[in-house]
Amino acid sequence: MSEATQAVFNQSIIMSHAMNRFDIAIIGGGASGLAAAISAKRTNRKASVAVIERLAKTGKKLLATGNGRCNLSNADAGSYKKHYYGSCELAGLTVGFSVPDFFEGLGVLCEDDGYGRIYPRCRSAASVLDALRLECAKLGVAEICNTGITDIEIRDGFILRSEDEIFYARTVILAGGGRSQPALGSNGSLLDICAGLGITAAETSPALVPLKTEPALVKPLKGQRADANVTFFAYGKAVKSERGEVQFTDGLISGICVFDLSYLYERYKNNSELRLDLLPDMDIQQVNGLLKTTRKIRKDAPAEDYLSGIFTKPMGMYLLKRAYKKLPVRTGDIADSEHLAQTIKQLAFPITGTAGFDRSQVTAGGITDITDRFEIASHPGMYACGEILDIFGDCGGYNLDFAFSSGAIAGQNAASDLYKRQ
Ligand SMILES: Cc1cc2nc3c(=O)[nH]c(=O)nc-3n(C[C@H](O)[C@H](O)[C@H](O)COP(=O)(O)OP(=O)(O)OC[C@H]3O[C@@H](n4cnc5c(N)ncnc54)[C@H](O)[C@@H]3O)c2cc1C
Repeated sequence: MSEATQAVFNQSIIMSHAMNRFDIAIIGGGASGLAAAISAKRTNRKASVAVIERLAKTGKKLLATGNGRCNLSNADAGSYKKHYYGSCELAGLTVGFSVPDFFEGLGVLCEDDGYGRIYPRCRSAASVLDALRLECAKLGVAEICNTGITDIEIRDGFILRSEDEIFYARTVILAGGGRSQPALGSNGSLLDICAGLGITAAETSPALVPLKTEPALVKPLKGQRADANVTFFAYGKAVKSERGEVQFTDGLISGICVFDLSYLYERYKNNSELRLDLLPDMDIQQVNGLLKTTRKIRKDAPAEDYLSGIFTKPMGMYLLKRAYKKLPVRTGDIADSEHLAQTIKQLAFPITGTAGFDRSQVTAGGITDITDRFEIASHPGMYACGEILDIFGDCGGYNLDFAFSSGAIAGQNAASDLYKRQ
C-alpha cells in the first residue's frame, strides 16, 4: 500500500475510531468481513463502516490459504448441493455473485488452473489481501485491530465491548469465522457470544481435517504418499468415495481426498473406516493378473522386492505384511495372489477420530438462525456471513467463494437496510 493511500486510510480510522460510533460494525476482518465492508460502503457511501479484528492485522487466515496461493473460487461453485454441507441452501443464495468478477473489479486477474480451481493469476494470497485492504482504504472503511469483541448488548442498536473499548453500532455484521486454526484468528469466541444472545446454531466440529487411525497401522507408512480411490465406510457399508493423493503421517491419514470425506466422522464416529483402492484404474481380476505376471518376472528376487515396481518399496512391503502373516524368502514362493489383490483394492484403516480444530481447514456447524438476506432471523439489524454460518464446502475454492460472496451480499443488505431504519 502506498504512503498516500495509507495516510487516507489512517485518517479515516482516526476520525471514526475516536467516536467509536459506526453505522455498520463488522466483527472479524477475514475474507467475509473485508468483502462485507467493501460491499456495504459501495452500497451506501455515507455509512460509516468499521471492521473490528481481534488479531494485530486483518486477513491472517487468508494469507495461509491454498498454501499461500489462495484458491479463491471454483468454476463449479454454483452446483451448491454438490459441494456444500450443513445449511447448503445458504450457498444457493450466493449463486449469481461472481467472486472472480469481484476480484477482477479490484484489479486482481484470476484464472482457472485447468481443474476448475480459480486462483489469482499471480498465485499470491498476499496480493488478494492487498486488493481487499486497498479498496477498504479507498472507501474509508475503519480498520480496528488488536480488538477482540467479548460482549454484544442489544440496546438502541448494538453496544460492542472488547477488553478496554466500547463501540456503538446501528447494525452489526458477524464475520468471526468458525473454530478452525485459532492461531489464524477464528477462535470461536463470536459463536459463543451468539449462543449467549440466544442465536441458534448447529453444533460445531472440525471438517476438511486429517483423520486418526491406529498409530501402529500407519507407522510403517510415515511420509508415504499414494494415489488412491478412498472410500469412507460406516458400519461396513460404503458411504462416499473420493480419488486423490493420500498422505500418511504420525497416526494420521490426510490429503485432499481424505479432507473431503472427513466430515463424515462426526456422523458415524468410531464405526468409521477408510478403505483405499491403491490401483483404482484396474478391477480385481486385472490386479490379480498383474500380480501373477510380476511374480513370474521377479520369481528369484527377495519377496520384499515383489511389488517395488508397482508401489514404492515401503508401500510394497507394507502391503505384503498386511496380506500375509508370514512371508517366504523368494517372490516366486508366494503361492496365492488373490489375497494380496484384495488388500491392494481394499486397504482398510479404522478411523478413531480427527486431528481436531487445530488442524482443520474449516468448521462444520454454526449459526442456523438466518434469513435468505443473511440477517439473523431472531435479531433484525444483525447480519452474518462466512464460516460462522452452518455451512462448509469441499476443498477447491468453495469455502472462500462462500466467504466472499456471503460477505458481499450481507454487506449490501446491511447497508441498504440502514435507509429503512432511519
Ligand atoms: C490453512 C488453510 C488453508 C485454506 N485454504 C483455502 C483455500 O485455498 N480455498 C478455500 O476456499 N478455502 C480455504 N480455507 C478455508 C477458508 O480460509 C475459510 O473458509 C475462510 O477464510 C472463512 O472466512 P471467514 O471470513 O468466515 O473467517 P476467517 O477467515 O476465519 O476470519 C474471521 C476473522 O474474525 C476474527 N475474529 C474472530 N472472533 C473475533 C472477535 N470476537 N472479535 C474480533 N475479531 C474476531 C478472526 O481473528 C479472523 O480474522 C483454508 C483454511 C485454512 C485454515
